[in-house]
Amino acid sequence: MTLFKFDNSFARLPKTMFAETAPTPVGAPELLALNQELALELGLSEDLFHSDNLLNMLSGNAISEGSQPIAQAYAGHQFGNFVPRLGDGRAHLLGEVLTPSGARFDIALKGSGPTPYSRNGDGRAWLGPVLREFLVSEAMHAYGVPTTRALAIVATGERVQRETALPGAILTRVASSHLRVGTFQYFAYRNDTEALALLTDMAIARHYPEVDGPLGLLQAAVNAQADLVAQWMGLGFIHGVMNTDNCHVGGITIDYGPCAFMDGFDPARVFSSIDQQGRYAYQSQPDIAAWNLAQFASSLIAIMGPQDEAIAQATQAVNSFVPRFHRAWLSVFGKKIGLESATQSDRTLIVELLEIMAGEEVDFTQLFWSLSHGRTSELFSSPSDFENWEARWKLRLKTEANPDSVMARANPAVIPRNHRVEQAIKAAVKGDLAPFASLHEALSTPYEAPDDTALMDTPKADERVYATFCG
Ligand code: AMP
Ligand code: MG
Ligand code: MG
Repeated sequence: MTLFKFDNSFARLPKTMFAETAPTPVGAPELLALNQELALELGLSEDLFHSDNLLNMLSGNAISEGSQPIAQAYAGHQFGNFVPRLGDGRAHLLGEVLTPSGARFDIALKGSGPTPYSRNGDGRAWLGPVLREFLVSEAMHAYGVPTTRALAIVATGERVQRETALPGAILTRVASSHLRVGTFQYFAYRNDTEALALLTDMAIARHYPEVDGPLGLLQAAVNAQADLVAQWMGLGFIHGVMNTDNCHVGGITIDYGPCAFMDGFDPARVFSSIDQQGRYAYQSQPDIAAWNLAQFASSLIAIMGPQDEAIAQATQAVNSFVPRFHRAWLSVFGKKIGLESATQSDRTLIVELLEIMAGEEVDFTQLFWSLSHGRTSELFSSPSDFENWEARWKLRLKTEANPDSVMARANPAVIPRNHRVEQAIKAAVKGDLAPFASLHEALSTPYEAPDDTALMDTPKADERVYATFCG
């Protein structure tokens, strides 16, 4: 009984590029969540949803037909410091699935036991961060933002030791690839130009079939990251750990650790408990992405031909991040205020709104939602600056054909608010998955007001979450 159609191109690369390693079986696996829509897309037949075969695969208790579990090697700059060897320390790439529509996706387990790259880690994850990644990555997908996806959550039936003993879980992550800037850095550091060339070919085949060579790849990655970060900004999303190993060369969001969607708007907002300096604050994300891409460029230089010319071309590609990001940002925020194609002169209008919002730390999501649903002034304790802005905005809207429908596609009603995610985690730890399920349900159509309108509310003082954690 075959679950998926595997074709494992990464496992066919030279053995220096990964470690063959299998998940460690767990004691009492239980399927807590299965993303049925995604499962069908991947070609899983419906009668296997509740099969032991599937549970064995998603818990790492058996290697299913066609799967060749490996851990990928990668390096990375963590908070600016280069670490030459990270790699999948608690993840197993089970293989690549070819879907009925001909697409190729990695299927990986996260929290599936130690690998040769685990260093001092236990290779495990606890239920909290697994649930968070499931909810947040699926929300990203529903917003139309490129991202890894979540196929399933399995409870291991075992405890994981963190500050206390917590219930263990495994996330099944689905991705268009797991090619990170850090993957290239690992081989650049080792002067392995053969591996760099192979990775370049693979990244092009999987993400940008229309481009050629390392320079083409670099430019495409710059464009995709600029567009991606602009979309994050438009949702008030803070990734939290934009290390180069968490920067995807295909321009998809990867590694949901201490990430968060902001409630009250503050450009300097940080959530990650490990980001003491605010390196990865909301407003710093574009600069950090550009810095990460400069590291990508450095890794590719060795295979870019004559060095003087290569350096000049790579520099130009990296520098193109800033104008590309500004264009993307203007497009994203223009739509948020109802402008189908915002122009440079609209930029001031947008920036002014953000300044007014920041002045009172008005809720980011509610503010934009209210623009097309009314009563925005009520979000302010002193609304005069906003009302002044609103008058000018309404004049500007007169030349727009259908601002309400533009805003309806740009401003979600529901985000995975921290306090809601925390509540869902707390309940799940006690065995109640209902809050998780209803939040997931509301997030699947995030541009519509949910049945439970309380999901749109900001946290009460005692519900507020100030920090998010890795797991
Ligand atoms: P991250 O902060 O999630 O990007 O992880 C950075 C590195 O630490 C990666 O190599 C991870 O695989 C590794 N890592 C994180 N948590 C664990 C863990 N519990 N056990 C082993 N390795 C881990
Ligand atoms: Mg990571
Ligand atoms: Mg992580």
